Amino acid sequence: MDVDLHALNRRGFLRGTGLAAGVGIAALAVPGISGAAVAVPRIYSCDEWAARPPSDTLAVLDHPANRILVHHIASANSTDYSRAHAFQICRDNQADHMDNNTWADTGQHFTISRGGYSLEGRHGSLDTLRSGNKIVRAAHCPGQNENAIGIENEGLYTAVEPPQAQWKALVVFCAYVCKQYGIPVEEIKGHRDFYNTECPGEALYAKLPQLRKEVALALKR
Ligand SMILES: [Zn+2]
Repeated sequence: MDVDLHALNRRGFLRGTGLAAGVGIAALAVPGISGAAVAVPRIYSCDEWAARPPSDTLAVLDHPANRILVHHIASANSTDYSRAHAFQICRDNQADHMDNNTWADTGQHFTISRGGYSLEGRHGSLDTLRSGNKIVRAAHCPGQNENAIGIENEGLYTAVEPPQAQWKALVVFCAYVCKQYGIPVEEIKGHRDFYNTECPGEALYAKLPQLRKEVALALKR
């Protein structure tokens, strides 16, 4: 169903890299909405990338998310676009959050690698996203952790934009989150909109209007 990924394949962007399988998606028919279908991204779970167990109990809140906050990890703009690298990024990020920030687990709900892989961050985020009516209390933005889904993008986007594969994965992922929770695209925001931070970087922040537009199109397909 996802035309953009097919376009990437046609241009040879993903050909021969083994990446196409990693960002493979399936179509989800939406009951009650005639003709509507939203792409379901392949999301790698904490178990799949070998996360450490949380150091404390994580609260599951009995209400849906009502916003998405886009972040950048502010990590190196690696040219390793492999799945193995995406898994390593998640382990490094979790170790940073647990060991340096002394949080119970990864701060954000989800992570998207520069190679276009989508991964669970905080334990329980995937199950609650699939439920569409619960959210795990997170640690990605003070004041927003009980209502906003936090998505960290691998890389540093102060001056350069995310690679195509990551951007396309972000669009597909945000569309799926909006569909699951019934979030309007206007509620796709940047970390800096709610906190005194440069995150998600000037270049990525400038693309948020385009992100809302592309997510809206994906939701109409
Ligand atoms: Zn941030």
